[in-house]
Amino acid sequence: MHFTGRTWRPPYEAGSFIIQATSGCTHNQCRFCNLYKNEPFRLSPLEEFEEDLAELARYQPTAKRIFLTGANPFAMRYEKLAERAFLIHDYLAKCQTIAMFASIRDIKDKKVWQLRRLRALGINGLSIGTESGDDSTLQLANKGYTSKELIAQCRKLDEAGIEYYFVYMTGLAGSGNGRRNAINSAKVFSKVNPRFISIDSLTLFPDTALYQMAQTGTFTPAGETERLRELQLFAQHLQIRTHLFANSISNFYPITAFLPKERNKLIDELQFIIDTVSEEEMLQYRTNLHALG
Ligand code: SF4
Repeated sequence: MHFTGRTWRPPYEAGSFIIQATSGCTHNQCRFCNLYKNEPFRLSPLEEFEEDLAELARYQPTAKRIFLTGANPFAMRYEKLAERAFLIHDYLAKCQTIAMFASIRDIKDKKVWQLRRLRALGINGLSIGTESGDDSTLQLANKGYTSKELIAQCRKLDEAGIEYYFVYMTGLAGSGNGRRNAINSAKVFSKVNPRFISIDSLTLFPDTALYQMAQTGTFTPAGETERLRELQLFAQHLQIRTHLFANSISNFYPITAFLPKERNKLIDELQFIIDTVSEEEMLQYRTNLHALG
């Protein structure tokens, strides 16, 4: 298999078979991210992709879900994505879905009829690292899109019937801004239909712009208690039926909930942590994190 550089897939895709379709990230400018710092974006040549498919088909001929790796294979033009989806079905007759990472920016150049065609070809399950729906936070993080664009592009996915998953990152707005970020993000996310939302919490790594900003005093990271309160508020203001998965290692306290049914349970559990664990203990946990995921 042609895996080059960093191969990254979300924890919930652990049961999927992975093939490299792209490597690196077309944007590579988010201020908190160091994932693909030294890896330029590259589209895997079709021959390479087909060789990997042939190899996968030899060992896993009944593979049902494929996850295409690279930070955002959905950046490919419609024609290229369709070509790869056809190839996957040529080699893997039982394949039902083709999932991948995508950015809001990658949806812009695709029309709804094209998205519908991609959906018909099995492309479904886009992991979108939205991080926030609050414009000041999106700008601070340099995500490269606004909340308005987020809503417009995800509505296209809704129209085409493509399922997608979001990420919300607590602490990203900086000290004192968690409340604003939580409420605004919940409002924006509630206008679309993410099947679930993964919660991460900001961890500053030395080779990121945000870390440098923290060193020079232009960014003050939120405390751990503020982040838990932020998550409480985010859950409180979300007005859609969705799952929250706050169980990656960047969360001090792993918790999952189905909203709206388990909203109060989640808020109460977080309150218990706020009331019983000190800021120092939580901070110690974060200081010991050396990588995401
Ligand atoms: S967070 Fe995602 S879009 Fe932003 S630089 Fe990192 S990989 Fe690229």
